[in-house]
Amino acid sequence: MHTVDLIAAKRDGHAISADDLHQLIVGYTATDIPDYQMAAFLMAGYIRGFSYEETIALTDAMLASGEQLDLSALVGPTVDKHSTGGVGDSTTLVVAPLAAELGMQIIKLSGRGLGFTGGTLDKLESIPGMRTNLTTEELISQVQRIGLAVCAQTNDLDPADRAMYALRDVTATVGNTALIASSIMSKKLAGGAHAILLDVKVGSGAFMKTVSDARELAEVCVALGETSGRATRALISDMSQPLADTVGNAIEVREAIEVLRGDRQSRFVELCLALVGHLAALSAVAPDAATGEARAREALRSGAGLDRFRLLIEAQGGDPHVVEDLSLLPAAPIVHEIRAPREAWLATVDAEAIGRASGALGAGRETLGAAIDPAVGLGLHLKIGDPVDRGAVIGTILARSADTAAVAERAVLAALGWSPQPVDAPPLIHEVVTGRQPDAAASSDLSFTGETRPARGEQS
Ligand code: URA
Repeated sequence: MHTVDLIAAKRDGHAISADDLHQLIVGYTATDIPDYQMAAFLMAGYIRGFSYEETIALTDAMLASGEQLDLSALVGPTVDKHSTGGVGDSTTLVVAPLAAELGMQIIKLSGRGLGFTGGTLDKLESIPGMRTNLTTEELISQVQRIGLAVCAQTNDLDPADRAMYALRDVTATVGNTALIASSIMSKKLAGGAHAILLDVKVGSGAFMKTVSDARELAEVCVALGETSGRATRALISDMSQPLADTVGNAIEVREAIEVLRGDRQSRFVELCLALVGHLAALSAVAPDAATGEARAREALRSGAGLDRFRLLIEAQGGDPHVVEDLSLLPAAPIVHEIRAPREAWLATVDAEAIGRASGALGAGRETLGAAIDPAVGLGLHLKIGDPVDRGAVIGTILARSADTAAVAERAVLAALGWSPQPVDAPPLIHEVVTGRQPDAAASSDLSFTGETRPARGEQS
């Protein structure tokens, strides 16, 4: 079919065959089909939705657009985890070493996306000397030696997604379940791991603002993974406030090291342990998630997870002494405290606004390739449901100047909602979605369009 007829068919709500979708993706990746035609097709699909069959075909075509990592040289269960993105989401830094410690081989490939804070790669690169561009040979040999690698996805993997995601980002066509699911899952399938765990975020700092939208995305992703023969599971976890207590780059690495040292108890720690537990169950390293989680807790308590993180830093050229000496991490010169404006309970947080405040300090990037400042960021020391006295310190800003610190302080305070009454903490994990094929008839229209320009936090 001619591209223009394909666009018209989607615009008019007709089913598109797998062959035609394949031709479209191949033609676009080869730059035979121009951006304007792909943009029109994506907008037609965004509005009309895609059937489950079309979503499978899109995923397969994107997967086939590039190479797939061959992990057959690795002995032991290979696992991957993916977060749909949020604020203060540095789970990879804690989950990867703990998973490796439990006997999984974890290969975490990250893109260098746009967002309020840098991505996982930017966070890791705030460690002096740390390298995240590994060749495939380096990656495999590192995982053989220490059980984990966290590095940049190579240009050969899923080039169709790279081009389409960049186009979607500037044509208001990101927020569609089928497009998000095929984008995420084609990358994860190309990464080659046998077990895939998705952390689908829901709330004010996430793409998905409601549990039902998050559930729909989780179910489609899990079905796509299972259809391709990978053990796949998704947690729907809370992003109605920043996950960790810090938002930035080096500041999030510092927090992750403190967690691995056993110095912190928090929702962030609990989610990391739950994620490791589910990874262990998915990869049959543990009989169930609860047993896996208990083993992860023990690896944390014993310091084995911290040792494994040290090995990761060393293997990728970083200075391993940061785990003992946090002053080796970059930190901006202005340290500004934020104080509570009243005596109350924290009731709501606009997590996206907190992310933007950190981005405005210099911790994120608006355009691909822009530099980020690893040394700036902020800490918010309380969570929804916490009581606070007027004047108590509730946050800290690390800034380059007093002026940018003042702007960030105003933004953080404006993002917080207070209640004179006690408030319940939101659940940390809303649901767990396990392998179950969606009823193809019931899911014939995957057209979530909740946001024309969703929150762009870290996607790890
Ligand atoms: N994350 C992705 O990798 N792709 C999307 O389309 C949205 C979030």
